[in-house]
Amino acid sequence: MNKNELEERLNLVKNDLNGAVLVAVSKYSPVEDVAMAYSLGQLDFGENRVSELTAKAGSFQFNQRQNVRWHFIGTLQTNKVKELLKTPNLWAIHSVSSKKLLEEIIRRESEITEPELNLFFQLNTSREEEKSGFDTVAEIAEAIELLLAKKKSNLVCYGLMTMGSIREENFEEAARKSFKELKVARDYLAERFSLPNLKLSMGMSQDYKIALEEGADFIRVGSLLFKE
Ligand SMILES: *Cc1c(COP(=O)(O)O)cnc(C)c1O
Repeated sequence: MNKNELEERLNLVKNDLNGAVLVAVSKYSPVEDVAMAYSLGQLDFGENRVSELTAKAGSFQFNQRQNVRWHFIGTLQTNKVKELLKTPNLWAIHSVSSKKLLEEIIRRESEITEPELNLFFQLNTSREEEKSGFDTVAEIAEAIELLLAKKKSNLVCYGLMTMGSIREENFEEAARKSFKELKVARDYLAERFSLPNLKLSMGMSQDYKIALEEGADFIRVGSLLFKE
């Protein structure tokens, strides 16, 4: 990847952020391109496979790129939780998708290398079968109860995540509907659990502008930045 090109693309997205955080999804990219983005001041990166994340995070640690913040955004198997939590500079998991998975994260909490780990609960707003995530807000409420019941924990109930529909004819309208639904869920949970700072992680290359209009705090953009 050409450095000037990458810089232009990063700036294009950054101009729209208005205070939101850009998570640069580096799953398509070799670690050299991720390092290039880091050298341009991009510190937040998202990966959707544990093995790929640990390899890149290991390389960053070796090269003392210490300000990086890794975001895990993919479907997570319980048997990979331990390996994931050990990752250096792991800042957040955006894809906590079931109570069982949360229980495993809680069980493995002592593995985390940072003072805290931020958790986003994924809501399957598009109800597409192939997407993971909780099906209902009530189930997320149960999970949050479980997390908050832990008196001393370094796991932070940080926010909610969703993905817009990939199948709808009118993807823009469908995405907006998903994002609005996530915001309603967030407002309800924030009130119910007195968590006024719950964040929204929503929006990818094709719909991040809509997500920002709907109040996204974190957008996860990959191909628009990194695809050749
Ligand atoms: C790949 C991925 C993204 C980024 O998708 P792009 O369309 O490449 O921007 C965002 N979120 C999740 C969960 C992903 O798996």
